[in-house]
Amino acid sequence: MKALFVMSLSHGRAYLAIPGPSVMPDAVLQAMHRASPNIYEGELHDLTDSLVPDLKDIAMTDAHVAIYIGNGHAAWEAALANTLSAGDTVLVLATGRFCIGWGEMAEGMGAKVETLDYGAQSPIDLAQVEEVLAQDNTGRIKAVLAVHVDTSTSVKNDIAGLRAVMDRTGHPALLMADCIASLGCDRFEMDAWGVDVMVSGCQKGLMTPAGVSFVWFNDKADAARGDRVTAYWDWRPRVNPDYYFKYFDGTAPTHHLYGLRTALDMIKAEGLENVFTRHEKLAQIVWAAFNQWSTTGPMALNVADPAHRSHAVTSVGIGSPNGDALRKWCENQCGLTLGIGLGRDPADAYFRIGHMGHVNAHMIMGALGTIDAGLKALGIPHGDGALTAAAQALAERA
Ligand SMILES: *Cc1c(COP(=O)(O)O)cnc(C)c1O
Repeated sequence: MKALFVMSLSHGRAYLAIPGPSVMPDAVLQAMHRASPNIYEGELHDLTDSLVPDLKDIAMTDAHVAIYIGNGHAAWEAALANTLSAGDTVLVLATGRFCIGWGEMAEGMGAKVETLDYGAQSPIDLAQVEEVLAQDNTGRIKAVLAVHVDTSTSVKNDIAGLRAVMDRTGHPALLMADCIASLGCDRFEMDAWGVDVMVSGCQKGLMTPAGVSFVWFNDKADAARGDRVTAYWDWRPRVNPDYYFKYFDGTAPTHHLYGLRTALDMIKAEGLENVFTRHEKLAQIVWAAFNQWSTTGPMALNVADPAHRSHAVTSVGIGSPNGDALRKWCENQCGLTLGIGLGRDPADAYFRIGHMGHVNAHMIMGALGTIDAGLKALGIPHGDGALTAAAQALAERA
């Protein structure tokens, strides 16, 4: 709670413009505002069954989906636990903090981790991956781990291209993708892109409070089953369970399920293609402003090539300590919360803006206007005309 009587223009509806958790629609909150339902039979069971086909649709897959009560890290662990054995080698393709974190988890579970690190501003170098896979004549690498959109850097990777490289080398490894930041924002097609395992969570593109996550997996991934799987993480009972309580290995996350049902209904009503297009256009409006600001002073979009930028989050370099100063100004003065320079050094030289999920053009324009004011109030040098450029980009795309 802010102290009373402190003058600030932040009072009013806040905008949490961080890359997850994302803005929750009122309809999702209202769906959750209820007494606990009967967990033994009835509506909750039908509702849970109804989530499964919609979760497959949003990932564009006919594969299986298991639901876990946990955040994205839980889905990471589930994916690894069901596929790896102690001593297996995994290839980590790092383009930011998140794939490195997934790899550290694999190491903690007894895997050998080989990392190709592309730093914080570049996508995966597919030609290099092809070389590494081609040299692996013994099939040492059991799984390739890649993050579709790395939320710390806003780098977007070409997952279909990665599959093409694996196919060209005839490598049998599993392709495992983290779509925690991209699902329901950036186009992702699990089956068409040949992904064997995909993980995501509910609190980013799926607009539901953090606490539920998902692992999609195909029969090849299921057959790879290693020696790390324990009863709780086993995805088999959670898929098409013959007994309701197997879905979650215990009590269902009742209210999350109601919220998620509503969020998926909203995505269906808008149309998944339209959801992708909205995110793409909003991202282009954000970039139009940053391109102008960057013409003078310390500001720079983290990813130079728009083709490798996420449509859900934008990472920006602005010099230390401007990143932190700007974030604090926007939050305290205007009610806009921006994301921290997660995993960056120094962290206060960066910030991120989340434009994922329940976000529309006026929210983006408000966020950009607030950032523009913050740059002026703090005396951070910047190019002129960012808001005009953003408005022009919006006018051309609406
Ligand atoms: C948010 C995120 C995670 C971690 O999810 P948690 O719910 O915080 O555990 C992992 N990977 C990516 C790409 C993310 O955006």
